[in-house]
Amino acid sequence: MGGISYFKTLVGQPALVTGANSGIGKAVALGLAQSGADVVVNYVTDPAAAQEVVSQIIAMGQRAIAIEADVSDEAQVEQMFAQAVAYFGTLHIVVSNAGLQRDAAFESMTLDQWNKVINVNLTGQFLCTRAAAREFKRRGPTPGLSKATGKIICMSSVHQEIPWGGHANYASSKGGIMQLMRSIAQELAPAKIRVNAIGPGAIRTPINTSAWDTPQAYDKLMNLVPYGRIGEPDDIAQVAAWLASDASDYITGQTIFVDGGMTLYPGFATGG
Ligand code: NAD
Repeated sequence: MGGISYFKTLVGQPALVTGANSGIGKAVALGLAQSGADVVVNYVTDPAAAQEVVSQIIAMGQRAIAIEADVSDEAQVEQMFAQAVAYFGTLHIVVSNAGLQRDAAFESMTLDQWNKVINVNLTGQFLCTRAAAREFKRRGPTPGLSKATGKIICMSSVHQEIPWGGHANYASSKGGIMQLMRSIAQELAPAKIRVNAIGPGAIRTPINTSAWDTPQAYDKLMNLVPYGRIGEPDDIAQVAAWLASDASDYITGQTIFVDGGMTLYPGFATGG
């Protein structure tokens, strides 16, 4: 894990991570396992990559299972949660991470491009967080194991805040995640279920390869990142492990931006 250390804060708390066979989701699954959690590794394509994450988690001494499900499909999500609960007994942590882009200039964006992104990025979060809330309430409190009855982490983006030309579908989905997350945090707090989001900036994953894979692209990207480096998936995993732990027990309904300052409007650094 690149020399990063995790505290064993999540022992006995099974977690489910969607889109966990690539990029941020993979790092989060491994980070939660490093913290002592058993993990459901959700995937929709590339079962071999999912199995590799499972193998890495088992090598750490935790249990893990790969479950195929399209997060935008209600029946598949329900089936995944049923299978996860049958395997691990319950879930304590759900990281709703799966997401994609279908970029297009606004006038040429097709309804299919719009629907695909909204269905996976936003409806997928609705289906997975609803299934999580139902399971946390069914199981009830577990004093001594976790202060909260359950923890939900939604993977949002700096684009819940920063408009993004050429990506109206994606930015809309992330803006939607923000209000979904805040509304359900409000609704579920009395049941001691904490709901938060992470807003990554530019993280080195396959979703945005063209933004960092040449020196020219990387230099251009740095104009948007005051801290002067691209984010790594482990930067997100560290925050996810903390948001899932009792160390953040009084935090709910918040987005933690993990972005090297991208949301600080760097264009104004010298007066605009
Ligand atoms: P990625 O492409 O490496 O991973 C996305 C994952 O989601 C993959 O495992 C993919 O198979 C999965 N997925 C896609 N559609 C799915 C579906 N219908 N059902 C289940 N899984 C599905 O990209 P990533 O960068 O790791 O992205 C993870 C999340 O982080 C996304 O929500 C993305 O919007 C968000 N994010 C990424 C960045 C970044 O810079 N990489 C920045 C902000 C937000």
